Amino acid sequence: MKKRFMLTCQDASRLLSKGQEHTLPFRERWALKIHLFFCVSCRNYARQIGWIDQVFHLVAHQWNTYHLSHEAKERIRESLKKAEPGLGCDHSKEEDHL
Ligand SMILES: [Zn+2]
Repeated sequence: MKKRFMLTCQDASRLLSKGQEHTLPFRERWALKIHLFFCVSCRNYARQIGWIDQVFHLVAHQWNTYHLSHEAKERIRESLKKAEPGLGCDHSKEEDHL
């Protein structure tokens, strides 16, 4: 049971090679990530074969997908402008009102 949680270096390198050709199942991907977190030599190997680049590319892609669209950003910017016209922090105006 314990062995399943933490991969051996042999398992990790096998998964790394497998991950080059196929997308790894969620569980294997996480087991590999955990192993790479603790194991420097496998991390170096992963870097050499470009696996880490692939993972970062995937994360970056997901991040962009979840990011706000240009329209949504504009909508938020517009509603902020309406809500607080003096967002530019003009203190002289505040004094006039007092
Ligand atoms: Zn290892």
